[in-house]
Amino acid sequence: MPKDRQAIFNRGTDVGILAQQIFPGGFDVSPSSIKKYGESVEKTKELIDKGAEVIYEAAFIFNEVLAALDILVKRDGKWYAYEVKSSLKITPAYVMDASLQYYVIKNCLPDLEDFFLVTINNDYELSDKLDVQQLFKPTSLKRDVVANLPFIESKIAQAKKIIADGDMPSVPIGEHCFKPYKCDYFGTCWKSVPEKNVFQLSALGLPQQVEWYKKGIKTIAAIEDTSELSSNVQIQIESVKQGKEYFEKEKVKDFFSKLHYPIGFFDIELFAPAVPVFKGTKAYQQIPFLFSLHILSEKQELSETHFYADPGEDPREQFVLACIEKLKDMGSILVFDSNLEHGVLNSLVKKFPQHNEAIQNIKKRIVDLSLPFANYWYFHPATLGSASLKNLYRKLLKDDSFEKMHVNSGTMATYSYNALFEETDLFKIEETKQQLIEYCKMDTLATAKLFLYLREKCNEI
Ligand code: SF4
Repeated sequence: MPKDRQAIFNRGTDVGILAQQIFPGGFDVSPSSIKKYGESVEKTKELIDKGAEVIYEAAFIFNEVLAALDILVKRDGKWYAYEVKSSLKITPAYVMDASLQYYVIKNCLPDLEDFFLVTINNDYELSDKLDVQQLFKPTSLKRDVVANLPFIESKIAQAKKIIADGDMPSVPIGEHCFKPYKCDYFGTCWKSVPEKNVFQLSALGLPQQVEWYKKGIKTIAAIEDTSELSSNVQIQIESVKQGKEYFEKEKVKDFFSKLHYPIGFFDIELFAPAVPVFKGTKAYQQIPFLFSLHILSEKQELSETHFYADPGEDPREQFVLACIEKLKDMGSILVFDSNLEHGVLNSLVKKFPQHNEAIQNIKKRIVDLSLPFANYWYFHPATLGSASLKNLYRKLLKDDSFEKMHVNSGTMATYSYNALFEETDLFKIEETKQQLIEYCKMDTLATAKLFLYLREKCNEI
């Protein structure tokens, strides 16, 4: 499993365990391994027969389908099912999962009265002590799961027939490969998609890409009529067909002419715990804990400084003071995609209105280096598919440093820092700290190098 997805999975498990406290004192029948769910099914049945009233990770099998449930509760002779999600809202995919669980459990346990999805309550603000009853929000899905029963039954019959026939159904790739999530078999079904394919075109919707693909227009080279397409898509197509970069030099030069030295290349890392850890914060509130600043002087010397808050106390005040101090002498502050930085600074203004003037002063100097790429003033065919900082850096600077790093994405940084709140091994805490700082430094170095790359392009005759 990719590291990012493993981290999300771990978060879901942690929240599920915390939610057990809504109904304390239950029996946990979690299997010792994924292959031993049969034991959980037996233990669940045993506990129900013996009169248990709260069971965690209860498991049932009906019609050869296994369903596990986070919490099963008995009240006044009736059973109530609770499935926990580390999410703020209920999605159609959750309702469909719950419908399958309901189908299996209701057939094993006719006294099942209701099925609840437990999500995280976004209105809850942490005070002195965590209140799990307030943090979690159960919503009855009874109406939906009952209405979905015939559909679930028909899908199970269909799935069993496919298994019995022994043939993999022949389904062409399409929009369904991304709904509700990117499919686990993506690597298998999409491996025959040729290089420089239509799905790599940015600024073009998936329905158009799928339509072309179905018609046999699989590669960019095969697209003939581009007259109806937006100029940004035309730029990509022509650039790939001709194998050369597209460059609106005057626009990029004008963009650079407004910059002032010393130029700061700036990046923030934040974490957003599902369960709030600081007083006055809510679930998934973004808390900045690290920034890196590469500084390019007028003499063209590059240096670096950063701020890192050890996990523990709320880092926001230290963070805002460090930002103000380290950025005060910068001319322009270059970031790659300014949404995050503006969002963090806006939330800090709300929390610390006394620093409003200094923060507004920082915001005024922020310049977004993603614009020349996002606006297609510069496009290189090697970067086809993504104008992210990491893709541009890897392809244009021919450097795979990000790929070699232990922490190599904002998502990984978030989860790595979050995990430190539970970590007691001092070596591991220090090691993670260094990995996080190295990652953030790499982000600002990559931004600086992309700036130098584009500036060099402007100087070419
Ligand atoms: S990737 Fe998944 S959804 Fe797409 S065709 Fe293959 S199995 Fe079906």
